[in-house]
Amino acid sequence: MTTTTTKTGDPLDRGTLDTLLRKRLFYAPAFEIYGGVSGLYDYGPPGCSLQANIVDAWRRHFVLEEDMLEVDCAMLTPHDVLKTSGHVDKFADWMCKDPKTGEIFRADHIIEEILEARLKCDKEARGATVLEKEDADKKKRKKKLKDTQAIKLDDKVIQEYQDILAKIDNYSGEELGKLIVDHGITSPTTGNPLEPPVLFNLMFQTSIGPTTNHPGYLRPETAQGQFLIFNRLYEFNNLRTPFASASIGKSFRNEISPRSGLLRVREFLMAEIEHFVDPLDKKHPRFPEVADKVSLRFLPRAIQAEGKTTTVEKTIGEVVEEGMVDNETLGYFLARIHLFLKELGIDPEKVRFRQHMPNEMAHYAADCWDAELLTSYGWIECVGCADRSAYDLTVHSNKTGRQLVVRETLEPPKVWEEWDMDVDKKWLGPKFRKDAKKIEDAVARISQEDRERLAALQVAGGKVFVEVEGLGSVELEKVTIEKNEKSVNVREYTPNVIEPSFGIGRILYSLIEHIYWSRPGDEARGVLSFPPKIAPIKILIVPLSNHPCFAPIVTALSAKIRRAGISKRVDDSSASIGKRYARNDELGTPFGITVDFQSLEDGTITLRERDGMKQVRGTQDEVIEIVRGILGGHSTFDDALAKFGEFQGQELDE
Ligand code: AMP
Repeated sequence: MTTTTTKTGDPLDRGTLDTLLRKRLFYAPAFEIYGGVSGLYDYGPPGCSLQANIVDAWRRHFVLEEDMLEVDCAMLTPHDVLKTSGHVDKFADWMCKDPKTGEIFRADHIIEEILEARLKCDKEARGATVLEKEDADKKKRKKKLKDTQAIKLDDKVIQEYQDILAKIDNYSGEELGKLIVDHGITSPTTGNPLEPPVLFNLMFQTSIGPTTNHPGYLRPETAQGQFLIFNRLYEFNNLRTPFASASIGKSFRNEISPRSGLLRVREFLMAEIEHFVDPLDKKHPRFPEVADKVSLRFLPRAIQAEGKTTTVEKTIGEVVEEGMVDNETLGYFLARIHLFLKELGIDPEKVRFRQHMPNEMAHYAADCWDAELLTSYGWIECVGCADRSAYDLTVHSNKTGRQLVVRETLEPPKVWEEWDMDVDKKWLGPKFRKDAKKIEDAVARISQEDRERLAALQVAGGKVFVEVEGLGSVELEKVTIEKNEKSVNVREYTPNVIEPSFGIGRILYSLIEHIYWSRPGDEARGVLSFPPKIAPIKILIVPLSNHPCFAPIVTALSAKIRRAGISKRVDDSSASIGKRYARNDELGTPFGITVDFQSLEDGTITLRERDGMKQVRGTQDEVIEIVRGILGGHSTFDDALAKFGEFQGQELDE
């Protein structure tokens, strides 16, 4: 476990956080009473609301802001589509088996886990303070990591391990196998030697229909559907480019051995954008809006190749200018991704953009940057941003014979001169019969320079020959060679695709880690400081007690809040107000409204803000207006404090 800290500077205690998330039903293992299946989770009410709010923020930030064309394509995908896209042959990870127990491990993960554990044990052996010592989760895992007990490493080995870890995503299967042997990596559960890594395809296969005639897969990404509908979208967009499609939907990957909670699951919500752009002009019209305003932390390929993970902070304008990020469109999206994560409440200190190493890139990608978020599981890729070049549209077009291109009208038309060679067919056909086509093809392949040379030769009275495979040198007795003017008013090209791809579950979990903390002196009770817009529920209504006298006000207030379009919950249990608020802090509800005896007299209520625990008092309408203003981004709770003054009358029995 990586040591990350909360906003109070305390180490994040993942065990306590996990307990909170299960207790408050953010999510839970799926099919639990049947023993569960790793990598499958169900979301409970707060998890569902949180996910919906993240998706809503995503749609506003990308789809609406950029006029993207949203689609919802089929998840069941025919074999031919994924064979053509390369997924059937290449969408795979390396796995190794413990031959004695049959237990399976993902090769890169097992190396990573064991080397990291050895480095940690060494640190402990050297007397460093390892805060996770008390962590129950780690204790359990450490017991399993049999080979790591009390290892002491020399400096050269430490450097070697760090080097391997920095490049872990870049190794081939053979190289992973060699690392396993060279570094004596064995099964962490039994200590048995492992078999050499073999490829495992991550797609779930199925049959579409009652027979086996139509094999298919559950899609591993939403992208393919978006590529296949390209022509229709292009028409929908009135034949204008660039444009982007966007899609939110489930994807499925048969991960080898998932065990990092929501971070590696077998079924997950993805939000993907496919931005179709001219390969000769990857400028973005809105790039100037971010160029010198947005600074990111980059971990470029060159630094990783040196075995280091130090980041450089630069503006997006600088890195595009110097070529580290290939083009404006890719740069624009990196900046927009950063702004989106910030809007959700992700800690900017725990974000970096890492460039893929050449071996690590997906089979379709020309360049790729991941937005990685720091969590207690280490740096986790939460958004991938790849330049997929023209790969997908080209392979699908070649396979189906359907053109997937942009036709750009050239204004003015493009005009140029070209040498034409015209062999007299009346002479060619009778003389060469079945070989005539071969000769025509050979003539068609003669370059412009050679045609010019042959024209000059002809003018000078020389003979024109062409080399034809199988026939040797053939004299073209009747050929006209002349220079003609050509013009086109349409340019046809296959667009390139820049693809930002978001894993909503990974973002959701990382966000929770980033905004989780506990009040000093009250470590057992956590607070989830979601930004109000993202919080699952916005208001908790707490009557002072469960006395029936409060019920009419609570009912009327609930209806008013509902009509204002704000989500709320009522907690009229018999627990103390303090306890009820604490329960609610764990759900991350930003506002609490108390209905008390004064409310019965003058109709006023108190509004409590979750993080600072300060309160204001006002009428129902005033309080709803404060919340509405904050949710709409027009005002802050401090504005309300300034306007209404802090209310201190009510003693909360915490
Ligand atoms: P990729 O197509 O592999 O670049 O994945 C795109 C995004 O999907 C990643 O950035 C992750 O956020 C998410 N993702 C990929 N695999 C998983 C998984 N097994 N579980 C959860 N999210 C995933």
